[in-house]
Amino acid sequence: MHQVLVVEDDAGIRDVLRAVLGAARYRVVEAGSAGRGETEARTHKPDLLLVDLGLPDFDGLEVIRRVRMWSAVPIIVLSARSAETQKIAALDAGADDYVTKPFSAPELLARVRAALRRAATGPGGSLLLRFGRLAVDLMRRELQGAAPGVHLTPLEFRVLEVLARAPGSIVKQQRLLREVWGPGQVGDTRSLRVCIRNLRQKLEPEPSRPRYLTTELGLGYRLLVEEKAGD
Ligand code: CA
Repeated sequence: MHQVLVVEDDAGIRDVLRAVLGAARYRVVEAGSAGRGETEARTHKPDLLLVDLGLPDFDGLEVIRRVRMWSAVPIIVLSARSAETQKIAALDAGADDYVTKPFSAPELLARVRAALRRAATGPGGSLLLRFGRLAVDLMRRELQGAAPGVHLTPLEFRVLEVLARAPGSIVKQQRLLREVWGPGQVGDTRSLRVCIRNLRQKLEPEPSRPRYLTTELGLGYRLLVEEKAGD
């Protein structure tokens, strides 16, 4: 049974989270302040943290920074703030994902599952990515099930590799550019957009309405793979 630490000052929202997570068979530990959250994280060593940004004593971002100094535990930020700068700040502080309030229970649970799965799999644990009837084998660098003549370029494989290290999570544009194109190319968002568009053409059933390779506006991209073999 996985343990989830909820750091949230709103008792009503804590009640909802306890009910939703409890029904999905997670054990829930609660903290109503940032300081308490950090203490509980050290004491209980939870499997995942859900952290609100607006907390009474200090900012949720600070909780994330402090926990990140000693732990790689998955952290999902939960906040009413929808401003992009806040999302970027949370990801920069070390959060793995971001859910904006009001959230739906199925969405929240899907994010929690993805974060826990990634933590269990670790980097590079999954090599086969499924896109409907297509599959990409990252190890062999093969596109399986595609029409004859359709293949992925080395650049496209590298973009998928970086996204696949954090399946289900937002991967920032700058990180993709830095890791695939190199540190000198972080401003070249056009190349990245072209590459993503080409990947969608090759992998998505409906490229104009992507299901697997989604855009997080102003932030980056998210890879929602259906199933993973090899973990
Ligand atoms: Ca709050």
